[in-house]
Amino acid sequence: MAQPSLKIDHILYLLTMDRERRIVRDAAVIVENGRISRVGKAAELASVRADRVIDGRAMVVTPGFFNGHMHISYGHPVRGIFPDEQASPLVHVFNLQSAMTEDEEYHATLLGLIELLKSGTTCFLDPGSTKFPDACLQAYQDAGIRVILGECVTDQESPWALPRYPAAEAVARTDSFIAKWHGKLEGRIHAWAMPFSYETCSTGLLQALKRVAEQHGTGLTLHHTTGQKARQESVMRYGHTPTAYLQSIGVVGPSVLLAHCLGLDEGEVDCIARTGTAVAMCPVTAAKSGRGVPEHGRMPELLARGVKIALGCDSPNNCNHLDIVRAMNMAAIQYKDARQDLRQVPAEAALEMATIHGAHAMGQGDELGSIETGKKADLVCFDTQRPEWQAIWNPVNNLVYNADGRSVHTVVVDGRVVVDDYRQMFADESRLFAKVQEIGEQLQARTGISFARSKWPMS
Ligand SMILES: [Zn+2]
Repeated sequence: MAQPSLKIDHILYLLTMDRERRIVRDAAVIVENGRISRVGKAAELASVRADRVIDGRAMVVTPGFFNGHMHISYGHPVRGIFPDEQASPLVHVFNLQSAMTEDEEYHATLLGLIELLKSGTTCFLDPGSTKFPDACLQAYQDAGIRVILGECVTDQESPWALPRYPAAEAVARTDSFIAKWHGKLEGRIHAWAMPFSYETCSTGLLQALKRVAEQHGTGLTLHHTTGQKARQESVMRYGHTPTAYLQSIGVVGPSVLLAHCLGLDEGEVDCIARTGTAVAMCPVTAAKSGRGVPEHGRMPELLARGVKIALGCDSPNNCNHLDIVRAMNMAAIQYKDARQDLRQVPAEAALEMATIHGAHAMGQGDELGSIETGKKADLVCFDTQRPEWQAIWNPVNNLVYNADGRSVHTVVVDGRVVVDDYRQMFADESRLFAKVQEIGEQLQARTGISFARSKWPMS
């Protein structure tokens, strides 16, 4: 009989995120052929041998994290260039993105993957910003991460440099993109339809893209932000609020993931909940870009209605970091402040969004998102031998409120160790950092988009 490939033994706290949300002390997890074969107390599994045994005595182990909205392509080389008061950086963002070459995007992506994996994200959705997926395939393969990819399409005018095609071409491109990419890398790559937003796509295009996603058995994501002004315009144009409009044209349901979702009114929350539509919210972007979470944030109402919410980090120039643990922290604290109510978005809800609920929102909840027998083995081991983890009484509170992704010690995807004792094995970090810095210089010179490097004298 073949030996199990991996055992994590004597785990200090195992946060299973299973149906009962069991937390097991002195636990063990056995991984065979990329899947979790047994989960239990270390004593019950003491006789099970493995090719490799990881000592979990100082570790808190969670499922791999999901990031439901993460523009990976352009941001790293120009991260942090915008001064805080830059009114609307989006026009620059899309100009920088559209100016990237294949080689530049590959290196920026590789850096993004390192940051994601080393802070525990094992699956992320890039909302159509990658222009050269062929060039980036090697990076996805080397990193061993899960990715949901798609081609961003629009067929209407927009203030930004977005890819725009006649509707039929946008549909054909999406169809062939999904056919080519879905299921690649032993199933770690999923491909979805990715219209940019309802404002930049015609009704016919949105409906056709939903059909394409259905035909391939995959999903569709788009940016979705409403609010009073957007509602007024939408009612004038379509006779419905933005969310009711999407429902009226059939672009809702469990295979649809609406990103950001700020400014929803009660009817829109109800529409999302009734139709089982999924949501990706980016709490740090909402706060950092002054989007008025007290007025526009509806995460507590969506959670109360059982909507499956994934957390997102958006981009390296919106949220700036790619650390989903910090996004959990922001989700758990910002609504307490916004509502002046400590019951809002408990730490447990934040962890659910980053794991099992995020997995469901991203169409992978049956295979991932919890540590249970039979599920794919995506695991994160946090090192608690660090000051910020001490003292440990309630490991969920410790994770969400005191730790961050920098205490991630080991990461497993599909049963393979991809971060080992804080190190990744697929890229030379110091060479890559220098390369990305150089790309940033070239990109700014080429586009003419650059800002003072400091408000203070720099010599
Ligand atoms: Zn976005």
